[in-house]
Amino acid sequence: MPVTNSVLPVYNPAPMKLERGRGVWLFDEQEADWLDCVAGIATNALGHCHPRLVAALTEQAGKLWHVSNALAIPGQVALADKLTAASFADYAFFTNSGAESIEAAIKIARRYHAVRGEPQRIDVIGFAGSFHGRTYAGINASGSTALLDGFGPRLPGYLQLSLDDHAAFAEAVARPGTAAVIVEPVQGEGGARALLPEELLRLRELTRRHGVLLIHDEVQCGMGRTGRLFAHQWVEGAEPDIMALAKALGGGFPVGACLASAEAARGMVFGSHGSTFGGNPLAMAVAQAAFDEIAQPQLMAHVEAMSARLREGLEGLRQRHPGVIEAIRGKGLLVGVRLATPNKEFIVAAREHRLLLAGGGDNCVRLLPALVITAEEVDEVIRRFEATCRSVEGAGADAALVAG
Ligand SMILES: *Cc1c(COP(=O)(O)O)cnc(C)c1O
Repeated sequence: MPVTNSVLPVYNPAPMKLERGRGVWLFDEQEADWLDCVAGIATNALGHCHPRLVAALTEQAGKLWHVSNALAIPGQVALADKLTAASFADYAFFTNSGAESIEAAIKIARRYHAVRGEPQRIDVIGFAGSFHGRTYAGINASGSTALLDGFGPRLPGYLQLSLDDHAAFAEAVARPGTAAVIVEPVQGEGGARALLPEELLRLRELTRRHGVLLIHDEVQCGMGRTGRLFAHQWVEGAEPDIMALAKALGGGFPVGACLASAEAARGMVFGSHGSTFGGNPLAMAVAQAAFDEIAQPQLMAHVEAMSARLREGLEGLRQRHPGVIEAIRGKGLLVGVRLATPNKEFIVAAREHRLLLAGGGDNCVRLLPALVITAEEVDEVIRRFEATCRSVEGAGADAALVAG
């Protein structure tokens, strides 16, 4: 295979050369405006170059970047206090990515059982359509066998079930080898599938009954994306024991966290886990600023309002373009549109209208704009989405003409 550049070819990046960003807008070398409904995959929750994040980053960059966890980092204590005060959790461990947060979650869960004298409890139950990152634990916990392809055998200690198979779940969660259940309250990569309140409560009830820990993967759906700080907070009584965060936590700066209750974390002592970069002063400065902005009640209300407007607009498009759009789903500003035409082609067609969309399972495209998107910008998303529907319909008609 010819080598076109020396980056390992595991990605297939869109070709345009983007120079700068502001809010939901990206600008290329020609200064053309691109409407960004990917937001670094639900990461730039406050938009590109939010002034408060730029200030936090540049101010900290002139003071202290990195010292390692051998030295105290006050920013970690401050951010851990914010995260635990706003959630079920008592502790936070800081990481650099979603996959590392998942890794920490699974380690905390297994060690909980080990220190309670049940080291045989290692099995982690995951669900079809889920995505939990690219480490060995992550790909084994995820509900897609494609992620494992060529990477050796499935590790022992991971089980995959369908969310709809209640009987299989009831049987598996009661087994003496079961350690934890891992679930995304709103599946992201799987195609913006929001679990029903009763599904979240059923998982909570059965895990508790059998002494199994419940892990919520809120790497994508957490930090305000759904209109609540954490997606499970829509459902009273659904709180997990452990929760993985990343993506929007740093508003675009690479940082993640694993939150846990004191009970779930009882196995974690000095030396049982760690990270060189995790929670460094630079990451903590940006993440604290991001948290303070995202956690504001006005922003959560804004997410709900913009979500309603976006969904209403998309619903109108579904009625006008039934041959393209099949269904709208998701929660808050984690919106999925299931298409009748191939989603990858739709994403490429949207670029002709300078609209950036993310893909997703189940032939979805996902819209994950910055949470600060305005009503006028939502309306512009709908205009560009409709223009894309027309292009796709036109292309379909051309193809039919050629085929005929
Ligand atoms: C993105 C994602 C991950 C992995 O995060 P990385 O930062 O890419 O390691 C894990 N879980 C969910 C739900 C995600 O969306």
